[in-house]
Amino acid sequence: SLTPAHLPKLFDAVAAAINENAAAVTELDQAIGDGDHVFNLQRGIEALQSHATEIAGLDWTAAWQKIGMTVMAAIGGASGSLYATLFISLHKNTKDKPVDPKTFAEALHLAVEAVKQRGKADVGEKTMLDVWVPVAAALKQDVEEGKNLHEILDHVHAVAEAGVEATRDMVATKGRASFLGERSKGHIDAGAKTAQLMIAAIANHIK
Ligand code: ADP
Ligand code: MG
Ligand code: MG
Repeated sequence: SLTPAHLPKLFDAVAAAINENAAAVTELDQAIGDGDHVFNLQRGIEALQSHATEIAGLDWTAAWQKIGMTVMAAIGGASGSLYATLFISLHKNTKDKPVDPKTFAEALHLAVEAVKQRGKADVGEKTMLDVWVPVAAALKQDVEEGKNLHEILDHVHAVAEAGVEATRDMVATKGRASFLGERSKGHIDAGAKTAQLMIAAIANHIK
């Protein structure tokens, strides 16, 4: 099963996915954001890579806490506090619980709810939530239905891609893109795209 010992390789896989797509995502972000989203994420991921050995030696709940604190310290911008909220919430919601898929799926679902509250946002507002909300819901449902890992990973992949694509025709009502109002239409949200890239990288790595 997956343990925090796998995290250094997962960080590298996530870093590669973001780095390979950096130019394309920055182009999206320059259209409706302030163009710094990839840089912000890269700083966070590099900080995680530099703490990788330490994090690999922790148990899951402690690893989530360390990841959240590292991300919080390294990333400025909206995405930093939102991802820190996600990971700290994973820490809180896995504490003293069994390490199993059901616990993780429930904890992720609650963590995404915490991100919604933190950013006062929900699906349909052209943000990373348009990926994270359906992905967390799909994972929770699939685990409850007892689907096998392969089916779950394929499903999560597809749901994340659909989430990104859905942001294209949305009008941004949260974050910097909201300043553009109707003009934010026609562009994919950068934060939704990087969420999908990271989720796909993790899913591919687990496969
Ligand atoms: P900043 O907007 O501070 O420059 P980033 O560029 O790193 O920060 O992150 C921007 C991304 O964060 C957006 O593309 C969007 O996906 C996400 N985002 C912004 N505001 C919110 C919010 N209130 N709730 C959820 N996600 C948000
Ligand atoms: Mg930005
Ligand atoms: Mg910024």
